[in-house]
Amino acid sequence: MTNWHTDYHSPNRGLTFAISESLYTEKSRYQSIEIVETPEFGKVMLLDGVLMITEKDEFVYHEMLCHPSMISHPAPQNVLIIGGGDCGTITRVLEHPSVQKVVQVEIDEMVTRVAEQYFPQLTKARNDERVQLVFDDGIAYLKQLKGVFDVILVDSTDPVGPAQGLFRKAFLQDCYSALAEGGILCLQSESPWIDSLKPVIRKMNCDLRAIFPQVHVYSAAIQTYQAGLWLFQMASKLHNPLLVDAAERITKRGLSCQYYNAELHKAAFVLPEFVNQIIR
Ligand code: SAM
Repeated sequence: MTNWHTDYHSPNRGLTFAISESLYTEKSRYQSIEIVETPEFGKVMLLDGVLMITEKDEFVYHEMLCHPSMISHPAPQNVLIIGGGDCGTITRVLEHPSVQKVVQVEIDEMVTRVAEQYFPQLTKARNDERVQLVFDDGIAYLKQLKGVFDVILVDSTDPVGPAQGLFRKAFLQDCYSALAEGGILCLQSESPWIDSLKPVIRKMNCDLRAIFPQVHVYSAAIQTYQAGLWLFQMASKLHNPLLVDAAERITKRGLSCQYYNAELHKAAFVLPEFVNQIIR
């Protein structure tokens, strides 16, 4: 008999997929952490029942959270990741040769510990000498820092629980302060198809525009995330992502991706009209 899991995107819709085996379940201080084996997506990590990553398509989200900002910066050396406990984002950041240090601030150490057991292809990145893992609240961590990072990537859960504060203007302001001259901030910014998230997307964009000289929204098609269309918001102190020669930088840095490429670097910023209406 097949077991099924539904990742509810709203009370009236969700993604249902077959589970062949439940591999791990534990409750941390912050959330329930489950790993399941599935015939369609391989191993899947769920936090509080919400799909975080799958073996089959984690590359889409992690490449698209990381590379547009990293490529838009001429030589990112110091990078900060907030959240990202599965280490999929670190793995992509380290592909950029100019990177000298990546600090990852994940509030829940158990997420990384479990990912080490079930997603070692991602967590092996933590052994790179350039990586520093900090297990703390990203909101508190940032408050102490001024002008340190070239790129900050916010790889958070949805705006509930400990992640709520990562969607507030005060946190975005702290990110601005923690960025060096020419710094770039990029945040995962939910799905424009989910009605309850539209105000979240709009407020993030409005707050970012009040703080940064440039804000660019782009999208990616992520089949396993809510409703299949995902947004990211990039806020930049100086560099304009649409004015960089992405092809030249991708080649020079030796990136090899499964989703991101030079054409997508530009095309991803072209948004459907209903999305423009949300953020306008
Ligand atoms: N790719 C996933 C997505 O887009 O849904 C998110 C990946 S990662 C698993 C999200 C991480 O954010 C979780 O491990 C969670 O513990 C962490 N997180 C939530 N709030 C946080 C905070 N205030 N500071 C640091 N990490 C936080």
